[in-house]
Amino acid sequence: MNMPMLASHPLIQRLTLIWSLRDRRLSLWAALVGLVAAVLITLVWLAGRYEASQVQSTLERDTSDAVNDIRSGLMRDVQALQALQANHNSTQTWSLGAGSLLREHRDWLRMEWRDAQMQLLTHMDSPLRAPSFGRTPRSNALNEITQACQKARRSNGPAYSASYFVPQENGLGFEVMDLCLPWVVAGETLGYSITSYSLQEIMAEHLSPVFARRNEVSFTEPDGARLAIIGQRGRGVRLFSAHQLLDLPGLTLMLRVDGRRGAPDLFPNVLTALVTAMSIALVSVLVLLVKDSRRRLRAERDLAEALAFRKAMEDSLVTGLRARDLQGRITYVNPAFCQMVGFEAAELLGRNNPMPYWPPEMVGEYQQRQAIRLAGNAPPREGYESVFMRKDGTHISVLIIEAPLINVLGQQTGWMSAFLDITEQRRVEELSRASQERLQATARLATVGEMASLLSHELNQPLAAIASYANGSLNLLQPPEPHDTAHTLADLRLALQRIAEQAGRAGKVINSVHDFVRRRDQDREAVMPQALVDAIMPLVQLQARKLGVRVMIQLDKGLPAVWCDRTMVEQVLLNLARNGMQAMDAPDCTLRNLYIQARRAASNRQHQWVELSVTDLGCGISEDVAAQLFNPFFTTKAEGMGLGLSLCRTVVEQHGGHLEFEPHAPRGTVFRFTLPVQPTAH
Ligand code: ADP
Repeated sequence: MNMPMLASHPLIQRLTLIWSLRDRRLSLWAALVGLVAAVLITLVWLAGRYEASQVQSTLERDTSDAVNDIRSGLMRDVQALQALQANHNSTQTWSLGAGSLLREHRDWLRMEWRDAQMQLLTHMDSPLRAPSFGRTPRSNALNEITQACQKARRSNGPAYSASYFVPQENGLGFEVMDLCLPWVVAGETLGYSITSYSLQEIMAEHLSPVFARRNEVSFTEPDGARLAIIGQRGRGVRLFSAHQLLDLPGLTLMLRVDGRRGAPDLFPNVLTALVTAMSIALVSVLVLLVKDSRRRLRAERDLAEALAFRKAMEDSLVTGLRARDLQGRITYVNPAFCQMVGFEAAELLGRNNPMPYWPPEMVGEYQQRQAIRLAGNAPPREGYESVFMRKDGTHISVLIIEAPLINVLGQQTGWMSAFLDITEQRRVEELSRASQERLQATARLATVGEMASLLSHELNQPLAAIASYANGSLNLLQPPEPHDTAHTLADLRLALQRIAEQAGRAGKVINSVHDFVRRRDQDREAVMPQALVDAIMPLVQLQARKLGVRVMIQLDKGLPAVWCDRTMVEQVLLNLARNGMQAMDAPDCTLRNLYIQARRAASNRQHQWVELSVTDLGCGISEDVAAQLFNPFFTTKAEGMGLGLSLCRTVVEQHGGHLEFEPHAPRGTVFRFTLPVQPTAH
């Protein structure tokens, strides 16, 4: 097979189709799994981002709160300073007030009171720490302070200086900014109060400890350089940062908050977990559904295959099938049945009696039969014969085998019948029966022909007797000598009587042959075995006398009548008797007895049998002959036809019996056959 042919092979095409379907299914599955995975990953990622943005915005909010806290703290500081200015106009009282303020504010490092020319009038360092400006002269910062104060005077309000670094004794240092508040009385600036802030302490003072613990908070310059830091970044994988400007008069600082937070979990929140769980459940349900549908598909395919097989089987059956429900309505017919009766299935389904295929003349009988069936009587298992009529009016013989239709629950739902068209079989049987009959008639004629010689021999005696009586009578009537008339008349009467007797005897002989040849009763009838034997006896005797055979009849007493085709069985008996007598027609056969016997044979419940046998003491049957005995036209006799035994067997078997033979001791042969006893009720 070359490649293109291979590809066009239906099986290959089917396989290719299955493969391509499988490929498609696999890619669909892959797409589904990919999509679900993508959705899940996107969901987790979005949820992570959402959480991060939540954290970020919280941090932003906290940062802006922190800036507000610091700003308002600084505002309060300004108010406290303004109160100090208003209440203390001498350096002594100022110092007192300043001392208490410095104690209250940890972020204040130092307070100065300067006059309008920026000359220091008095100052006070924070009592809470070592003096911060011990190492560097205060004049280093004067520039920043002066600038701040100029701004303050211009705006007639507080102003802050740029921050600057103040180194300390221990090698460290901190960033400091100054607040300058002008002292204005009646529009004239009398001096300035200057407060130095530690940037770090500002944060420590104004921010909540919790906030500082969780985050690293720092003041930075706009370029990002850190000026002061408090707190720690905290633990966590991810760093979040927020910036917020702290806009003060004269100074802008950037508050930067850095905090570490844990990375979002794989399932960062309930929503994602819920969606994931639902997706998994969805996929599982989908898988189960697919499995279920595949199982269903497989079951459907199996069912379809089984149905197709059943249909193919029903369609290819030559036996007609018909199902009827319990009311006798046709519920199913197969194509063979439709073909048998010539009706379409649609014309038959749902029909009840009388069925369209019943011959009109039989409707009554069939209706009765159906009534019996519907009453629950099961038909014979071996089936029964019936005649149907095709749609075109022709008759068909059918063998019907019917059985109850039992459903899965074991209940009878109707009747199922199988039909065999036996029309042809019946026709052949009829033909063979006719030819058999013709053959038998021929055989009978042959027998008659054979008997013609016997007849002539048999008729010789009465005819000779008649002739001699007639001659004697004639002699009596001769006139020459006077006779005693009365005596003569008596003699004549006797002679004529004898003549009549002999003529009667001859007539009987001829009649017996005539009867035998002419009688033809087809039907079976009850016949007593005795009657059968009696009927053939005249013919048997004809031959027996010729061959010097003694015929002995031994019939058991009280034998029942047999049910048979009388003519046929008589011929069987006659054939056997004739064969027996011929077998004894040999010079060495001195004892020539022929026994015709009848007795009851072994019977069973259904059938009783009578056995008839014909026994001769003749030459017996050699093995060669025995092998061909029943072959038609086998004969060892010059004038024989060889049909006798084969016909005998056919006849006996037609009656249901069988014919057999066996040697008879000390010599001769026994032929036996059985016939059914007349049934008691038919
Ligand atoms: P036919 O009598 O015309 O020869 P049959 O079929 O009756 O035909 O017999 C066939 C042959 O069987 C006979 O020719 C004979 O040789 C043999 N045969 C039949 N019956 C006997 C018998 N009782 N004894 C011996 N031979 C027999």
